[in-house]
Amino acid sequence: MSASFDALGNIVGRYPAADAAAPVVMTGSHQDSVRNAGKYDGLFGIISAIACIKDLKARGKRLPYTLEVVGLGDEEGVRFGTALMSSRAIAGSFEPSWLDKTDERGVSLRSAIEEFGGDAEAWPALNRRGKLAAYVESHIEQGPVLLNEGLPVGVVTAITGAARLRVAVAGLAGHAGTVPMGSRRDALCAAAEMILFVERYCESRRALVGTVGKLSVLPGAINVIPQDVEFSVDVRSGENALWREAVEAFGREFQKIAERRGSSVIVSPVYSADAAPCDADLQDQLAKAIAEQGIAVRHLASGAGHDAMVFPPICPMAMLFVRCGNNGISHHPDETMTADDAEIATSVLLHFFEHFDAAAFASKQGTA
Ligand SMILES: [Zn+2]
Repeated sequence: MSASFDALGNIVGRYPAADAAAPVVMTGSHQDSVRNAGKYDGLFGIISAIACIKDLKARGKRLPYTLEVVGLGDEEGVRFGTALMSSRAIAGSFEPSWLDKTDERGVSLRSAIEEFGGDAEAWPALNRRGKLAAYVESHIEQGPVLLNEGLPVGVVTAITGAARLRVAVAGLAGHAGTVPMGSRRDALCAAAEMILFVERYCESRRALVGTVGKLSVLPGAINVIPQDVEFSVDVRSGENALWREAVEAFGREFQKIAERRGSSVIVSPVYSADAAPCDADLQDQLAKAIAEQGIAVRHLASGAGHDAMVFPPICPMAMLFVRCGNNGISHHPDETMTADDAEIATSVLLHFFEHFDAAAFASKQGTA
């Protein structure tokens, strides 16, 4: 396998087919993660693929297709708010305006890429539209479904759609001792009502989850009524209509709350992605590879977003989930996976890669 960085700083390994004209299958996952996170989210999908290639190489076996392993950057969007940035470049849906986004210290995405040794303006070169037969990703489940059912792996049916909002509430700062309760325009109290509305709304609907994960309060002094509050909203559903309706409902209700409290609110959408279906044929082939290990086949939806979700417009996509220990906790240092499960998942993946007929699949699908 040869490996190199691409223009945006993703690391790409190629295990070429003997025939240079053979189809290309992409696998891998992301390298970045949230702050203070676990060890397996993302990285497992890269390392398990490399382990498959190591095994193939040891047996001197080439596949009838070129297998590319990608270690993608900026899947989580923690630093610049540009989730799925690298995979979107590959899928041809990169937004050039993202290059001007800045991190908390004012460093732009463009200059971060250049400092790393990349070439930010070369993003169009990453576009693989029409050049991939399939994208297959293995990933820790990040939830408790497989754990609760005693299964080491599962086949993903679809990846949830999601929207993220930045909500800025403006009130009026005042002295905590001198402003009577009835005369206050407390931005934090308005934000608190909005946040509880998000919880209530999502609790009252099936297949919808909503979270406020970030809140900042200014001036943030113990004896001053808060003047400016900013918070994030993340809302997700496997059904696109549900998260879209939620975004509209939040906007309407936040305005009402702000008006009633003499504050103002600005709701800015920062990210959205439709739910992405996994390819039925690829799901069948992953299911066969699981059954081959003597394991019951469980299909499940992904509540988390993944790089895989940007691929359906350009090629069929599938995901293998691996059991997550510790009640399914993820994005946390307690995230865990057993060595046995890692071994089983890698064997399933290897079986899949060895039995995948990329050329027949591509002609059947009418892709690549
Ligand atoms: Zn991940």
